[in-house]
Amino acid sequence: MARMNLMGWALLLALAGAAVSEAKPVKYAGPHPRTGQPDGGLCHIQAVHVHAASPVHAPVLYRQHGDVYFFIGDPTPFGYDGPRHSYYGHHPVVINVVLGEDSREDDVAYCYHDGPHSHYYPPPPRHDFEEQEDVYYYTDEYPEAYTRDRPRLVQVNIIYRPWHYARPVVTRPPPRGYHGPVVQVNVNVPAVGIEVNVNPAPVHYHEHDRPRHMKHKHKHKHKKFKDRD
Ligand SMILES: [Zn+2]
Ligand SMILES: [Zn+2]
Repeated sequence: MARMNLMGWALLLALAGAAVSEAKPVKYAGPHPRTGQPDGGLCHIQAVHVHAASPVHAPVLYRQHGDVYFFIGDPTPFGYDGPRHSYYGHHPVVINVVLGEDSREDDVAYCYHDGPHSHYYPPPPRHDFEEQEDVYYYTDEYPEAYTRDRPRLVQVNIIYRPWHYARPVVTRPPPRGYHGPVVQVNVNVPAVGIEVNVNPAPVHYHEHDRPRHMKHKHKHKHKKFKDRD
């Protein structure tokens, strides 16, 4: 009987340990959605702080800044009504500048919101933006890291699609220097068409340099290594 009790205690302690590790506080900096849904509202704390809850859609709507989660999306659907800056399309965000940190190296992330949207922070210094109709357009080249992460991070637009909220109004085409996607998303007028211009030029393959998976779909994927042996 005593042995059973001991085993029972061991089990209880193990369970308690698991519960404690699950409830580990999560660090946040800057305003972020409370629940991930618009009616959950926004937490407005700017300084680093903790919550018990993990961020919702963390891999898409947040960036890891050290061990801190930084919300990079448009706060408007969550009821944000403070000062705002309007942007069009994809652009860099320098997280340490937004958080007012005095760091030697910039932590540059990219926002992948298509079309007009808002942030609570102005464009970062030392990056090229052009202002048109009170809307900022990023006018420099996008680096490789931007392109590498794009397939995953453009999903922000899928997450935001069901939410109805005010977007900045643009009536003119983007300035020449803007190389990001052009998407017709003005919610105040019926959309006449959608143009997505992510790659500046279409990619043409010749038969000899066409990627292997496009030429021989069913070939064994390790074949090319065998050929070299
Ligand atoms: Zn918070
Ligand atoms: Zn943005």
